[in-house]
Amino acid sequence: MDFNLTEEQQMVREMARKFAETEIKPVAARLDATHEHPAEICKKLAELKFLGIAVPEEYGGGGMDCVSYVVALIEISKACASTGAIMSVNNSLYCFPVMAFGTHEQKKKYLTPVAAGEKLGCFGLTEAGAGSDPARMRTTAVLDGNEWIINGEKKFITSGNVAGFCVLAAVTDKGKGSKGISSFIVDLENTPGYSLGRVEEKMGINASGTAEMIFDNARLPGDALLGKPGEGFKQMLTTLDGGRIGIASQAIGIGRAVLEEGLEYAKTREQFGQPIASFQAIQWKLADMATRLDAAELLTLRAAWMEDHHQHYEKAAAMAKMYASDTAMQAAIEGVQILGGYGYCKEYPMERHMRDAKITQIYEGTNEIMRVVIANNILKGK
Ligand SMILES: Cc1cc2nc3c(=O)[nH]c(=O)nc-3n(C[C@H](O)[C@H](O)[C@H](O)COP(=O)(O)OP(=O)(O)OC[C@H]3O[C@@H](n4cnc5c(N)ncnc54)[C@H](O)[C@@H]3O)c2cc1C
Repeated sequence: MDFNLTEEQQMVREMARKFAETEIKPVAARLDATHEHPAEICKKLAELKFLGIAVPEEYGGGGMDCVSYVVALIEISKACASTGAIMSVNNSLYCFPVMAFGTHEQKKKYLTPVAAGEKLGCFGLTEAGAGSDPARMRTTAVLDGNEWIINGEKKFITSGNVAGFCVLAAVTDKGKGSKGISSFIVDLENTPGYSLGRVEEKMGINASGTAEMIFDNARLPGDALLGKPGEGFKQMLTTLDGGRIGIASQAIGIGRAVLEEGLEYAKTREQFGQPIASFQAIQWKLADMATRLDAAELLTLRAAWMEDHHQHYEKAAAMAKMYASDTAMQAAIEGVQILGGYGYCKEYPMERHMRDAKITQIYEGTNEIMRVVIANNILKGK
């Protein structure tokens, strides 16, 4: 077994680290406060190929592996979890399904501009009444001649307010349950009948937009269908398996920021005539954080490695997402505690990390649902 990254993976990590430290970290607090979409940062992420890391070079992507994606996303999320969310959705939830299930023509049309950063992609699965149980979705797609007519509303869509394209799930055959769901690629700027709904006010990841999307007799061309009718639900679940590796990486990034800043503070803050790092109570918090973060990173790299080696990684991805997000949340709570009153105030980024960490336990399947996925796998002997 080799725990070392390849030369290319190390290079990707260094590139991501340098960019995150110099260009993202200095503006992260401002982005959080203003809720501004980091458009300039996204352009530069695209130049580094980080918006289409695994997209083949033929379609303008980086042609890199999933391990590279993990190491890059950890570094970006360590500097700014909102930027991490945008990068993660673009790669895992938009580029992946188009790459995996699209035709050559669809890839040329819908993947190349997104991998190049000209437009962002988003993923429309959740609805107001269908979150953990997406098979209950009510958005419909009906074939009318050579066009699909879409009706319904999607909720909580990351980048929905800024994206140019969306991979959208809709019911094409009501009688067939999850086997009657299909997926489509929607050109959001050129679809009559589509409109943007409310953009949510959130607890954290404030610079990542979360929007409602409204389809009112929206007309899509026949070639918008991804794969075959009825394959959509399976495609979405496969997409989310990879997405969870992204969320695990985002969580690790947040946790690593907490550890680094907590450590620095503990070494310099003095009480009772000594640095608080000399108190065992503080040391144990740091030791627990460091251990759990390493464990989370190993789980996540394993899941990524399994994806790269075409192994069944559903369980591994769910374990990584659940453990990494719980670790980030726990680390952030203890990080705030290490900083005492300063941890509670916006002068330090720690309170932002705590707000940002929480979402990783919720989206792309809550951690309760992760346990369902893990249990289903182990009960089947997988
Ligand atoms: C900031 C943000 C960004 C998002 N981005 C996207 C996106 O880009 N695209 C997209 O499609 N969706 C997105 N989502 C939606 C997200 O994936 C859902 O919010 C999530 O899956 C949970 O669904 P829900 O909110 O409806 O909660 P519910 O499903 O109503 O769950 C409520 C509670 O019940 C628990 N629960 C539900 N079912 C079970 C069960 N079987 N066993 C045990 N407990 C259960 C849940 O774990 C949770 O604690 C986003 C959400 C947010 C907040």
